[in-house]
Amino acid sequence: MREDARDAALRVNEERLWLRHAEMAKIGAIPGNGVNRAALSREDIAARKLLLSWAVQRSFTVSIDAIGNLFVRRAGSEANAAPVMTGSHMDSQPRGGRFDGIYGVLAGLEALEAMNEAGVTTRRPIEVVAWTNEEGGRFAPCTMGSMVFTGARPLADVLDVTDNEGIKLRDALAETLAATPLATKREFNSPVAGYIEAHIEQGPLLENAGKTVGVVTGIQGLRWFNIEVSGKTDHAGTTPLALRKDAMRDAVAIINALTELTDDPADVTRFTVGRMLVTPNSPNSVASHVLFSVDVRHPDPQTIKRLGEAVEPLARKAAKHCDVKVTPTLRDDPCVFDADVTNAVEAAAKGLELTHMRLSSGASHDAMYMARVCPTGMIFVPCEKGVSHNEAENATSADLAAGARVLTAALVELANR
Ligand SMILES: [Zn+2]
Repeated sequence: MREDARDAALRVNEERLWLRHAEMAKIGAIPGNGVNRAALSREDIAARKLLLSWAVQRSFTVSIDAIGNLFVRRAGSEANAAPVMTGSHMDSQPRGGRFDGIYGVLAGLEALEAMNEAGVTTRRPIEVVAWTNEEGGRFAPCTMGSMVFTGARPLADVLDVTDNEGIKLRDALAETLAATPLATKREFNSPVAGYIEAHIEQGPLLENAGKTVGVVTGIQGLRWFNIEVSGKTDHAGTTPLALRKDAMRDAVAIINALTELTDDPADVTRFTVGRMLVTPNSPNSVASHVLFSVDVRHPDPQTIKRLGEAVEPLARKAAKHCDVKVTPTLRDDPCVFDADVTNAVEAAAKGLELTHMRLSSGASHDAMYMARVCPTGMIFVPCEKGVSHNEAENATSADLAAGARVLTAALVELANR
């Protein structure tokens, strides 16, 4: 590891990082230790102001783009070099925790401060970004800020989205932008040399393995389908089985076939039927119609492609009595992170003598969109029992600091390439 990368990493201040999580958790605090900080809300604005108050103390410069993504910049020795970026999001689920998202922003800021305190100069500038509306709890879709920043969807596409109270995104956004008048305007899709996002794992793998640092290799892909099985309703007592067109029986046969398809001794494949609508939904009647959802996930591009393509033919084959209609409803291809960034994260963990393992992310993150425009990676730290999107979400101060140290070292490394 570079000497300056180690110096900066060792300046990460565990107590400062922890206290900032506590400060942020007061904004939108809900019972049970949780946080409700919807995107572009009054609470979101308060979090942005608090972040900026810390940034200006260090004379970091601040910019904001037209979707409200907020950037805190530490200068490099080459002012015009494309920056290396880190960050995450400050919005939360309605019953969210104190670490999801905000950790990546605060760890990024801590990294910049640690570099200051170590007197480290990097060739490239380093920026901490707080992406707008990652959670999508108030305005759909999720990961909106990184989606628009990277040009995956134009800003105009999302401005008229409304929340449950009928408030338009454009109006909430205008209020948010007006609340940080000192931030300079920033263009979308400005060049980025690399991106590393730190995040709590939101799953149990690190804790179960007793490791401190997750070197994230990518984000798994997913396929969603609606499957509709149409038969005929009949009297449950009088109609012989041979004469029935029982939609429930065929639905169960399809689910069994898909369970077999997705059987994976390594337990990497995810298969879920989370929703089922039965008509007429009466104990006394044969079901005429069953609609259910299918969610299949896997990190490997070939595997998810194979599984996704197998769903419809398998469903048709399994249904012996009824008509079957399969409708794909969502498709996210797996994202495989850049080998150089992944290696830099792993080398940092190794150099700092922290226990670590490679794993892929089960949840989506802004890093998914950044991976389309620049070399990208992620760092995970454990969260208690894997609980997230829940007030009870918890992490230890030592693990958060360890992740921030790895982040700091990897950023210094990448910002000098
Ligand atoms: Zn998150």
